[in-house]
Amino acid sequence: MKFDLKCSVQLSRKADEMEEELEEFIKKIEMEADFKWKIEGDKILMEIVSDKKRSHEIILQIYKKIAKFFGMHKIGLRQIYIDEYKIEFEVEKKPLEKIEIPFAEVEINERIVLIKIKDKGEEFIRQNYVDRIIRRIREKIEKQYYEGKKEYWNLLWKSSEKKHVWNKDPSEEMQKRGWIKLIGKGKWFYFPPSAEIMRAMEKIALNEVVLPLGFKEVIQPMHVSFETWMKTGHLEGMPGEIYYICEPKSREIKEWEKFVDLLKIKREVDEKELLKNLKTPKAGICYAQCPNIYTALAGKTIAEDSLPILLFDRSTPSDRYEAGGKHGIERVDEFHRIEIVYIGTKEQLINIKEKLIEKYRHVFEDILDLEWRMAKVTPFYLQQAGIAGGEEDEVEGTVDFEAYLPYRGDRSKEWLEIQNISIVGEKYIKAFNIKSQKSILWSGCSGIGLERWMVAFLAQKGVEPDKWPNEFKKYLNKLPEMPEFL
Ligand code: ATP
Ligand code: ZN
Ligand code: MG
Repeated sequence: MKFDLKCSVQLSRKADEMEEELEEFIKKIEMEADFKWKIEGDKILMEIVSDKKRSHEIILQIYKKIAKFFGMHKIGLRQIYIDEYKIEFEVEKKPLEKIEIPFAEVEINERIVLIKIKDKGEEFIRQNYVDRIIRRIREKIEKQYYEGKKEYWNLLWKSSEKKHVWNKDPSEEMQKRGWIKLIGKGKWFYFPPSAEIMRAMEKIALNEVVLPLGFKEVIQPMHVSFETWMKTGHLEGMPGEIYYICEPKSREIKEWEKFVDLLKIKREVDEKELLKNLKTPKAGICYAQCPNIYTALAGKTIAEDSLPILLFDRSTPSDRYEAGGKHGIERVDEFHRIEIVYIGTKEQLINIKEKLIEKYRHVFEDILDLEWRMAKVTPFYLQQAGIAGGEEDEVEGTVDFEAYLPYRGDRSKEWLEIQNISIVGEKYIKAFNIKSQKSILWSGCSGIGLERWMVAFLAQKGVEPDKWPNEFKKYLNKLPEMPEFL
């Protein structure tokens, strides 16, 4: 790498006469780079060229020393000003496309990247923007290589083929019967029959999996702060899938008067006036339930006796701005999940994962009687980062549970992910600074998608309770009637 920093510092008065004395002073400073400087009136101009230590780090040390020197002569120093900072570094792979980044010009020549940063204040160096710009460029190049590639998928287990009672699309059928109604983009209203089916799924998950394994319920806010999502990575990972929340600037009726006037006169919302009354978002609606659980545990030291920590949430729906592929109740913008979170030693987590798989298997085989399968999945970017290589016996990573949807036909590919089990190692433990007395902690979560369980079940077993498996009928054997609409 090569760092070439041209910068200047404003002095409180002209100081050309100090040059010789300063030269003597600087000679005594041990320098790890090529350092040039001169005084020009009330300014000191500097250039630091280095191929090891970063010039922006060196300048901070030099600045401290010369501030002392000028201080002795009663001359004050303003902050460092970056006139031009050129950095050259090598990357592993040749970028496939042009790269752009805020704050810097980027030039690429095969595997050599040259960035140029101009006219910036001292904050820029102090806040470590430079290193982050370099890291982000490397990340963008990596991404060019894995974008569009499929995630790694490896079958772990598959149930036997089962006979299905029909091959209709349950969402369509429920809509025909009036059991579900679309209200807004990807958001459904569930009338009593469909609501009872979803609640039966929830009861099964709780009674057969979550509670017997010792998970305890929590209740969390539906709002998730940006700080939380910056720690989990959601804000950088899926900013385009979040439903953002705006607070009003004020709750005073007076402040909203014009908005109400316009509403009453135009009989529609005046968007400009509305936006004037809203703050910019600092939070969003729950995307997955685990981030707020980690936030609740942030900074805590967990007693050994309390390990593993086993919690679950079913209090808040999850909202996601889904693009294409929305269909019926299986890919929606608002869905209902039970999410369980486990924190413990690696051994404890291996044990929990085994027990979870055993319980889920019991539900899908013995109660819902589904045609389903389990696969180890690793998104390509994680394989790349070496976080999870996708080995079958590897603990970190995700297991997806999928069910076959007969109405879609082709048995070789029409499977829907209905839930997953993830173990993420120390990732979130570190991000949220959760500690134990002595053990190294790992964590993970498992999201049970109730709409997905429901769709899988109804797609295979139909919507007539008399055709449902007996074990399921123990949870629900009769549906409430729909009101009659004329
Ligand atoms: P996909 O690849 O299908 O978008 P995902 O990787 O985004 O899924 P996760 O974030 O792993 O899903 O969420 C875990 C579970 O949440 C899924 O197994 C599923 O049960 C449920 N889920 C996720 N997105 C939706 C959605 N849009 N509609 C209904 N359920 C969903
Ligand atoms: Zn989670
Ligand atoms: Mg998704």
